[in-house]
Amino acid sequence: MHQKPDGDAMGSALGLYHFLKGLNHDVTVISPTNWADFLQWMPGTRQVINFEMNKEKSLKILGEAQVIFCLDFNIFHRTKHLAIHLANAAAVKILIDHHQQPDADSFTYGISDTGKSSTCEMIYDFIVASGHDNSINTDIATCLYTGVMTDTGSFRFPSTTASVHRMIARLKETGFEHDQVHNHIYDNFLENRLRFIGFALTSRMEVLYEYNTALMYITKQDLQKYEIKTGDTEGLVNYLLTIQGIKFGAIVIDRDEERKWSFRSKGSFDVNQFARMHFEGGGHANASGGRSSHSIDQTVRDFKEVLKQYKNQLQ
Ligand code: 5GP
Ligand code: MN
Repeated sequence: MHQKPDGDAMGSALGLYHFLKGLNHDVTVISPTNWADFLQWMPGTRQVINFEMNKEKSLKILGEAQVIFCLDFNIFHRTKHLAIHLANAAAVKILIDHHQQPDADSFTYGISDTGKSSTCEMIYDFIVASGHDNSINTDIATCLYTGVMTDTGSFRFPSTTASVHRMIARLKETGFEHDQVHNHIYDNFLENRLRFIGFALTSRMEVLYEYNTALMYITKQDLQKYEIKTGDTEGLVNYLLTIQGIKFGAIVIDRDEERKWSFRSKGSFDVNQFARMHFEGGGHANASGGRSSHSIDQTVRDFKEVLKQYKNQLQ
């Protein structure tokens, strides 16, 4: 999975993990980095190895693996410091992903299907196509539901096809409790996070009506003051798109090693291209991310400068 795994990365990896375990395979899930606390409840998370905390063990497993499933990313550098080891691993590498512009040469087999809502949906398809859909149990269902739910904005984005709804119906037949998944992911934060969001909306948001764009920036001091952890800022960018007429939302957060951008759009404005062109990033047409090595103030200025080129597209 990619670094700082989200619900889809963790859900697809753990869904596949439970499925393959059920077929008596020897399976390990490795995350390139740590993950948000709100994913900790998922069945199997305690068995996931954090590469940054457990380099030796991870490298041993990578070295011995026959098959490596690469989930929810399609270019090795999305796995940060794991990338070089993935490249060097002798195993068969299978890509299952739904982002744009895969680095196909890095993988032995696989698919990056941008028509799919989530990597979890693709794991479901993989299980069904393997003829083992009877083995889908509540653990597999819970993990796969989590990723589809988070990647579709709770089943609202255009990627939520009829097939997605059919898949959810099939998962529900296992008896897993979907309301508990929503509670774990969306209703399980500390008070400080909600106060932080209030502060950010009041003091760190700028609406550029000329461009139908809303921008938010979060400084290091803000993160420290509100004791913000990995995962606490997830979803913040979506508030920007709730303003009437806003088609493009961008947030930049001053992380330790870089300024990390998240971009979201509604309609035809392609934030994957925008992130690739200007902020060393990528993703999907309506949801992408990128980075800058400039200061927070400078990268905000850079953003406003490049935005000028898109005035027509955004109007
Ligand atoms: P988020 O804003 O939630 O971090 O990411 C939104 C989407 O863009 C996710 O699908 C994520 O995988 C992708 N993404 C985020 N950052 C980057 C990046 O730096 N490079 C690429 N290629 N994709 C990214
Ligand atoms: Mn995904």
